[in-house]
Amino acid sequence: MSIIPDHKWRAPAKPIDTWRGKKIPRNERSNVFLPVSESYSGISLKIPIQIHRGVEDGPVVFVTAALHGDELNGTGAIRELICDDNLKLLRGALILVPILNLLAFDRHSRYLPDRRDLNRFFPGSNKGSLTARIAHKISSEIVARASIGIDLHTASVRRTNYPNVRADLSNPLAKQLAIEFGSEVILSNPGPEGSLRAEATKLGVPTIVMEGGEVWKVEPAIVATAVRGIKNILCSLQMIDGNVDRPDTQVVIKTTKWIRANRGGFLQFHVRPGQIVEQHQPLATNTSLLGQEKNVLLSPFTGVVLGMTTLPAVSPGEPICHIGQLDHDSHGLELLGNRAEAKSLERRTVKDLASNVLVKSMETGLPPANDPHSKT
Ligand SMILES: [Zn+2]
Repeated sequence: MSIIPDHKWRAPAKPIDTWRGKKIPRNERSNVFLPVSESYSGISLKIPIQIHRGVEDGPVVFVTAALHGDELNGTGAIRELICDDNLKLLRGALILVPILNLLAFDRHSRYLPDRRDLNRFFPGSNKGSLTARIAHKISSEIVARASIGIDLHTASVRRTNYPNVRADLSNPLAKQLAIEFGSEVILSNPGPEGSLRAEATKLGVPTIVMEGGEVWKVEPAIVATAVRGIKNILCSLQMIDGNVDRPDTQVVIKTTKWIRANRGGFLQFHVRPGQIVEQHQPLATNTSLLGQEKNVLLSPFTGVVLGMTTLPAVSPGEPICHIGQLDHDSHGLELLGNRAEAKSLERRTVKDLASNVLVKSMETGLPPANDPHSKT
């Protein structure tokens, strides 16, 4: 287990011992609320937040979910932590926010009622639009109280993601957080301008994102991956007792590409989320409904299937498969070998996510016989 040294994180800009006039005691869990806006009927809209404080001072970690209001796997993971009576902090504090974007969550939507994406408006402004004002409240009350952030997301509507962590690896602490989280796949990029993770990191609160699964669901393997990752980071920061539980192999992806349909029609998938694919390997065949016309989509490089559409009817240009490129240094074959071991969380995740798509070999029309994930 590797420890994140104390000199790597900085003390929060705002103290954690009080919340809007309320005392937050040590060694307790406190439920607090953050008013972020008002409804059309003038009712105050307050984000529910649980703050855990340890006995000693230490790093403060925020964990947020449903920044896109339809992305609920992270909410499921944070609920697991809230319901876990055995989770005891030795030091520092944990700020748990199961629903960050309350107005979008209530509409089962990614977007706010003004049709803006909250995750493009950070750090926000207290004189700006509805969205900018909410972003400003979150920045000034949650991010300002933290040393480190973890933001939980899923794929957007009609897609699924194999769990991956995204971080600005040019930031040394964000890089170590991404590794300690223990995701098999790490994507190296700073994140879109105005996103919570990019702007919090710029403000001195290095923040990573986990992406996994689909909207409108709480998927057991994704929740288990998120909870494992959050606890791994808390262990590395010496905030909880325990051992870091990481897969044997982790790969860093620098280049990704969406493979798009060339023709309209019905898709037959040949790969599943999380699968390692070789260059020119068939990913999906797009056929006319009576099967006379076929168009086979091939992988442009050796890589890992990061995301896939779950809607098998497509038009030209629509995205089918998101592939992360594995280069010489990235241990792609090692990754495949290690994941084939029985009972690993990663293997279970590949199997669970594949239950959402029909996967058949191009040659036989049967589930691929040599695929270790199809045998259990
Ligand atoms: Zn999202």
